[in-house]
Amino acid sequence: MIVGVPKEIKNHEYRVGLTTAAVKEFISHGHSVLIETGAGSAIGFTDELYESAGATIMSSAEAVFTKAEMIVKVKEPQPNECNMLREGQILYTYLHLAPDPVQTQLLVDSKASCIAYETVTDRFGGLPLLAPMSEVAGRMSVQAGAHYLEKSHGGSGTLLGGVPGVASGKVLIIGGGVVGTNAAKMAVGLGADVTVLDRSLPRLRELDDIFSSQIRTVYSTEDAIDYYSSRADLIIGAVLVPGATAPKLLNAQHIKKMKPGSVLVDVAIDQGGCFETSKATTHQDPVYIIDDVVHYCVANMPGGVARTSTIALNNATLPFGLALANKGLKQAMLDDQHLLNGLNVHKGLVTYKAVVDALGSQL
Ligand code: NAD
Repeated sequence: MIVGVPKEIKNHEYRVGLTTAAVKEFISHGHSVLIETGAGSAIGFTDELYESAGATIMSSAEAVFTKAEMIVKVKEPQPNECNMLREGQILYTYLHLAPDPVQTQLLVDSKASCIAYETVTDRFGGLPLLAPMSEVAGRMSVQAGAHYLEKSHGGSGTLLGGVPGVASGKVLIIGGGVVGTNAAKMAVGLGADVTVLDRSLPRLRELDDIFSSQIRTVYSTEDAIDYYSSRADLIIGAVLVPGATAPKLLNAQHIKKMKPGSVLVDVAIDQGGCFETSKATTHQDPVYIIDDVVHYCVANMPGGVARTSTIALNNATLPFGLALANKGLKQAMLDDQHLLNGLNVHKGLVTYKAVVDALGSQL
């Protein structure tokens, strides 16, 4: 199969669909890979490295879209990319179609077969192509929080790990899933005093098994949120209610009662945020302050560490991508229900129920 990777064109998106290591895997399975010039150069995957991995460098996105049988990307295609797709071509990328009728209509019109990373499933009931970005965002949340706790960045001037003779900073993590667990790992690693709240007792048990006495696990109630939020130096919002906007777990009154210079990192901002005062920010302008509390609400945190995120994403997408290239779309889907769950648009039809439910009447 001819696999094509265009350069991402969304503002400040430096991730790329295939790493050089992934290119080598496709080549060793007998496929050819076309890379648009400069597609990975911002994060160290230069044209020269792609060429030595066996790829052919193309001078434009048009050339990639025209020749490739499967397009591998990171972000949802922009309108001019959708217009270059054609019937029979495979698009393999994040799509997030439910809130996006314009993109959905363009993909339907293209008649291409469009697989959304975020709806591919695994046998444990998880979303294996979404998990790596939650791992990245979870680990980054503590790094970002520690940075903004510094006095010169608007914080209280608290070092999360403390020092001998000075108590550690207090980190409250609300939601102990993939983001929360990875945030806890980083916070424990820094020597912080860590509390994790979750609504799921099985999840709290798993966290207790992983961390033992290194963290405090607490069932998430309004009382618990009230008590721990007023004492925290850093609060990380990491809840997810599948298919719904995030519940607002901290209201403006909680935030007023927080210590001046404490920091909120609302990772759940891509689902609307779990703090009442959260509004989405960008890597260019990541924070704002309300009631002396620094708010960090970057909706696309993994984009800030684009190299790590690209490699982590490729580790998860490569097996499915190889299956598609080796077997072709139909056989790969017949062999793997989890990959089939990723098919959102096919030959002019929306094939994913949640997207039909969300957009049916608008298409
Ligand atoms: P997950 O499903 O693994 O974990 C969510 C956890 O929240 C679950 O353990 C669940 O029990 C818990 N929860 C639900 N309601 C709760 C409540 N009321 N109180 C306490 N806990 C509650 O999800 P995840 O992969 O960890 O993702 C968490 C959030 O981070 C999602 O909204 C996801 O979209 C977001 N995210 C954002 C970025 C970003 O760049 N901003 C990147 C990756 C993920």
